[in-house]
Amino acid sequence: MDINLIDSHAHLPHLTNKPTLETLLTGAKDWGVEKIINIGTDLKEHPKVLEVCTNYQNVYCGLGIYPNAERDKTLADIVTKLEATLQTNPKVVAVGECGIDNTGWSNQRPLSEQEELFEAQIVLAIKYKLPLIVHNRNGTESVINLLRAAGKNAPFNAVIHCFDADWATAKRFLDLGLYISFSGFITRTTKKYLTGVAQKVPQDMYLVETDSPYILPQSAQIEVSPNKNNEPKYVRIVAQSVAKARGTTLEEVAYQSYTNSCKFFALH
Ligand SMILES: [Zn+2]
Repeated sequence: MDINLIDSHAHLPHLTNKPTLETLLTGAKDWGVEKIINIGTDLKEHPKVLEVCTNYQNVYCGLGIYPNAERDKTLADIVTKLEATLQTNPKVVAVGECGIDNTGWSNQRPLSEQEELFEAQIVLAIKYKLPLIVHNRNGTESVINLLRAAGKNAPFNAVIHCFDADWATAKRFLDLGLYISFSGFITRTTKKYLTGVAQKVPQDMYLVETDSPYILPQSAQIEVSPNKNNEPKYVRIVAQSVAKARGTTLEEVAYQSYTNSCKFFALH
C-alpha cells in the first residue's frame, strides 16, 4: 500500500540551492510526501516562502516572526507588516512559527518582549481564524500562560512544533487542546522520552514534520553525509519512528497524521 504524508513544518527557503527545490520536491513525492507546509520566520523570508507556494500546488505555508527575529523593528511595525502579508495569499494556512526561545542566542530578545511578540501573533491567528505554529525552547510556562489566557477569549488551534519534552509536559499542552508535532528528534537514541509521548498521545492530536533543513533523522545521516541537510522526504522516517513507538504500522500513522494535518490546517 502506498502512503500519503504531510510534512507539517519545513523551511524551504533555506533549502533552495542544495539540492535544487525541484529535485527536493520530486524526492518528497517519491517518498509519499503529498503536501508540505513551508514556514517563514521573518519579514524578509516571507515573499520567498509565498513564491514557492504560488509555484507548487502541493506547498502551503505558515508565516510568522521567530522569537528573536526583526529586533530592529517596533512591535507595531512588525504586526502591521505581518498582517498585510497574511492577507495576500489563500495558501497561507497558519500563523507561525512564533513563540518563546530561551536558549541563550547572542541576539536574544528579553523574555517580556518575546511574550509580547508571541501574544501579538496569537491575536492575528484568532483574527484571521488561522491555526498557530508554536516554537517552544525553554519557554513552556510562558507558552502555556499566553495560550491559556488567549483561549479563554476565543477558541483557536495551535501545535507545539518539533516537540521535545516528556509526557508530563505533553499532557499539559494536550489538556489545553493543543496538538503535538513530532520531528527527527524522535529518531534519536538520546531522546527516548519522545517514544513515551508518541505512545500515549491521542491519535487525533499529533502531526509529523521534518523542520528541514534542521534535525536530520538519525537513520538518514549516512545517506546525506556529509552535508547533513534534512529534507521533506525524511518525514517518512519520522512517521516510521512514531509507528514503532505506538506499536502500529507506518500506513496507520501516515493516514492518521495526514488526516490530522488536513483538519488542523483546513487543507482540502
Ligand atoms: Zn522551524
